[in-house]
Amino acid sequence: MRQNLATAREAFGGALMVVVKAGAYGHGLEEIAKALATEQLAFFGVANVGEARRIAGAGVSTPIYLLGATWAEEREEIVARNWVPCISSMAEAEHFNRLAAAKGKCLKVHLAVDTGMGRGGFLAEHLKVQIGELDGLKNLEIEGIGSHLPSADEDEDFTQGQFRDFRALVDVLGGTERFKWRHLSNSAGLLGYEQGICNLSRPGLMLYGVSPFPGFQERLATVMTLKSRVTLVRTLPAGHGISYGRQFVTERPTRVATIGIGYGDGYPRHVSGKGGEVWIRNRRFPILGRITMDQIMIDVTAADEIQEGDEVEMFGPHLPVAEVAEKAETIVWEIFTGITPRVLRCYKA
Ligand SMILES: *Cc1c(COP(=O)(O)O)cnc(C)c1O
Repeated sequence: MRQNLATAREAFGGALMVVVKAGAYGHGLEEIAKALATEQLAFFGVANVGEARRIAGAGVSTPIYLLGATWAEEREEIVARNWVPCISSMAEAEHFNRLAAAKGKCLKVHLAVDTGMGRGGFLAEHLKVQIGELDGLKNLEIEGIGSHLPSADEDEDFTQGQFRDFRALVDVLGGTERFKWRHLSNSAGLLGYEQGICNLSRPGLMLYGVSPFPGFQERLATVMTLKSRVTLVRTLPAGHGISYGRQFVTERPTRVATIGIGYGDGYPRHVSGKGGEVWIRNRRFPILGRITMDQIMIDVTAADEIQEGDEVEMFGPHLPVAEVAEKAETIVWEIFTGITPRVLRCYKA
């Protein structure tokens, strides 16, 4: 992950907010936050107050930025703990201002702008009108402005337009000097585009070793490897069904290995019947039949060396997680965040 962070720094040039939402994309929120606590990051980006508490509880003092909108009842704690919210409306701004005034402090906030994501933020037209009123809120310090890219890995023209609109908006609001932090990019935005006036980027996925563009993949190192073990090896006769629904039936005597992992661990059930593979002792073996909650069967016919207890790579350096996501007809983000608590996380420091 440190290597990927260095790659992000080199590609971007500016400051970084490392996105650690959803338990650092399933990698372990506290562990990742602690590991990167000394990396001179501008922020850790979290989804909500629950995640902010966990980082603070781990004794990490890197500033915390809340990527999502906040609920009114959470705001007093946000003010008290100096977490940095992004503001999407006058009502939110006024509420934060009142709470900060009551505590006799000035809260740092960022303005969120909706340049096309449709999930939160001010519309640019409204912000141009409301900026005067926002400036009048004396217990808020507007230290940043940000927006989000919905299709940086799919629609280059639209994304270029967002960079242009963002710059134009910042110019109207008073220029770059007015905002200490200006940010637009996720991983795809960081890797694929000129950054214009942005001096902060918010990468997530690429830091966990996966590029949203295949072309950059070789510059990134695998972070998470999902492993299990062979629990049984048996030879079944021809005509024997394997797994629920008996959608796979052996055509020949088949040496079948059972692996102790399933969709209850977050290995996607949708890989069933899609030609999924696993990696054992330097080669791939095909998955047979449906993925069950706790066990998966594979064909190890003619691989006499495979034994009970053998380590199995479900994805990792030899079997890209992107391949598993594609077979499951989903995205890598969902695979990572779907690895359940049953899977023991082991860290190499
Ligand atoms: C999740 C998220 C990111 C990180 O996106 P990646 O594609 O994983 O790099 C950045 N910004 C915001 C607002 C997000 O919600």
